[in-house]
Order: sequence, then structure tokens, then C-alpha cells
Amino acid sequence: MVVTYHRPTRAIIHRSAMRENIEHEIARLPKGNELFAVVKADGYGHGAIATAQTALAAGATGFCVATLDEAIELREVGITEPILVLSVVFPSYLSLVADYDLSITVATKEWLEEAQEVLNDLSETTAPIKIHIKADTGMGRLGFLSPQEVKTAAAFIEASPNMIWEGLFTHFATADEKDESYWHKQATRFKAVTDALDHLPRYVHSSNSATALWHDHEMPGNMIRYGVAMYGLNPSGHELVEPYALNPAMELVSELIQVKQLTAGEGVGYGKTYDTPEAEWIGTVPIGYADGWLRKMQGFSLLVEGEFCEIVGRVCMDQLMIRLPRAYPVGTKVTLIGKNHGQEIPMQAVADHLGTIHYEVCCTLSERVPRIYQD
Ligand SMILES: *Cc1c(COP(=O)(O)O)cnc(C)c1O
Repeated sequence: MVVTYHRPTRAIIHRSAMRENIEHEIARLPKGNELFAVVKADGYGHGAIATAQTALAAGATGFCVATLDEAIELREVGITEPILVLSVVFPSYLSLVADYDLSITVATKEWLEEAQEVLNDLSETTAPIKIHIKADTGMGRLGFLSPQEVKTAAAFIEASPNMIWEGLFTHFATADEKDESYWHKQATRFKAVTDALDHLPRYVHSSNSATALWHDHEMPGNMIRYGVAMYGLNPSGHELVEPYALNPAMELVSELIQVKQLTAGEGVGYGKTYDTPEAEWIGTVPIGYADGWLRKMQGFSLLVEGEFCEIVGRVCMDQLMIRLPRAYPVGTKVTLIGKNHGQEIPMQAVADHLGTIHYEVCCTLSERVPRIYQD
């Protein structure tokens, strides 16, 4: 998809906001603990490369991504710090993992056996593969279920001439909730895993943003995987109060491209789902569902000079219409996410309107919307 620069719609990414969020978090970490910045899914829609570079400058010492290609993207721009791929990489791609010096996640014994066969066939000069063992302590997604299985996997890796045991980790399912009982159950299970091992690898990690924010005195490990909070978003939505102010990194803005006064009883948009009850000023904004501003956003209000203006009629593929309190000149700024004349639309408000979480809102913003970086 082509990035549409020649249109006033853009996502403005504030590097200073990300930097402050990271610096704040690092300042709270126990001494010696490291922060890996999670930049999967193109940095949650904020741009993986720019986010990674900003995070590095702010003190991050490594990165987490979801896929092999996301890891390669970072290496290709010269990032040399550790990069952990959080999801499963098929053993057939192991030569790429070695070539790009990546760290990968292992979650089953079968994977290890298959990987060893693949590695046996690679040239002797291929570097050993760095492995983080994943323990499933209650997420039910990836990982070994019992301490014994983890122990066996660790022994397998340490016995292999082609593998390095670099990490051990788990993932919490409910760290963003008021009720902490399940979090503690998972933490206890993870402790049983670490207790069962004779020694631990270089990195032991369990904390996503929510664990780092709300379980900072009890989080297991020596590294955190800091994701959504780096982008200035509260992982819990409305449920928990953040221990330090998170600065939202993304603004989404556009401009009015046409402003017209419709007489009473005129239809707006496909399906004529809105009829003007009286003479009204209607403004057209060049953003639509192809940009990731979904049709369900009908009825939500955008900001124009500090006034909330409702999206009337259906959101089109490339445009939408808003009801204006008065005539504004073409070119007037429209804020979809962010601050405008003392008012603000947080990304959480968009998520609330859609019945989802802000993670999904920023990831849904399509490639067509240019990301413009500001210091
Ligand atoms: C995405 C992800 C994270 C980061 O989660 P946030 O809630 O964004 O901090 C951490 N660990 C794993 C395994 C993940 O998949």
C-alpha cells in the first residue's frame, strides 16, 4: 500500500513522549534490570524503526518483536542490540535466525528436536541459535506447562553444540486487572519453574507493561518487556490508575477539505443514514475505513477548534463527514486522536466507542496514513 503524504491526514508521533515514558520506567526498575522495548506490529502502529531508535536513545537495551520479519527489519537498519522474537519461528528458517543474530522463543520439545535436525544440516560456521524458553504459567498460549518440561528443554539446549540458552520467560494474563489472585498464581508457578533449575540463563523475564506498572515490587526476572505503556497508553484501559503519568505518543489529525451548508432534510453519506434535521454545516474530512478509521466510528465526535463535532452518516472508505457548529474555513485542523484547543480525544475514547482496547486502535491504523515524527 502506498503511504499517502499528499493529503492532510497524518499520525503525528511524539518521540519525546515515548522517551519520557521509557525514562520514567527505567528509573523505577530495580538496579541491574533491563528494559526491552516491544515494537511488534510496526511498533503498535507507531513505526517500529523510529520507535526502536527512540527507545534505544532513552535507555532500552533490547527489543521484542512478534515475527522473524519484524526482527530482520530492525537488523536491516543497523540495530545491533538483542532482538527476541516472541512467537514461534519454524525450524526451517533457522539459518536466517543465525545470520541475523536473533533470539527466539521455544515452547515445545518437538520444536527442539526438529530444530536440532535442521541445525545438524547447516554449515559448521553457522553461529549457535540463542534461545529463550517460554513457560506457560496460565496464559494458555505458548510454552512448556511444567517445571520438569522446562528443565528437560534447558538440558537439551545446553547439550546442543548449536544452541545457546539465553533466556527463560513467561507471560501474565491478568496483570492489568484489580483482582491480583490469578497474577499471583502465575507468579507462584513461575517461581516453581526457576526453583527447579540448577542455574538460570542471562535473561529471566515475565513483565509486560502492566506487570511493570502494578507489580513493580514483586515482578520476577531481570528484564521487562515494555510495550503499550511506552506508547503512552494505560494497559488496563480505565481499570487501574497508572503509577506515573504516561504521555500518549500518537496524535491523529486531518483537515476539513470541504465545508457546506445543507438545508433541512438532506441526506449525508451512503445509505442516507443521516438526514439534516435543520439547516446544518457539514464538513468533509479525508480519512475513512481504508485508513483504519472504521465504519463503527459513526456517531463519535472529532475536535475542530476545541468543539466536539459528531461524525454523521456512514464513514466512507476514504472520507467522513462531521456536523459543524458553524462554518469553518477549508484547511481547518480536525483532531481524531489527541489535543485540540484545550480539549482532548484520548485513544481510549476511540476504543470505548468501538468496544475494544486501544492496542487494537493503533494497530488498525493503516499503512496509508503517514507517520510523521516529532522530537
Ligand atoms: C505484546 C507482548 C508484550 C508487551 O505487552 P504490553 O501489554 O504491550 O506491554 C510482552 N510480552 C509478550 C509475550 C507479548 O506478546
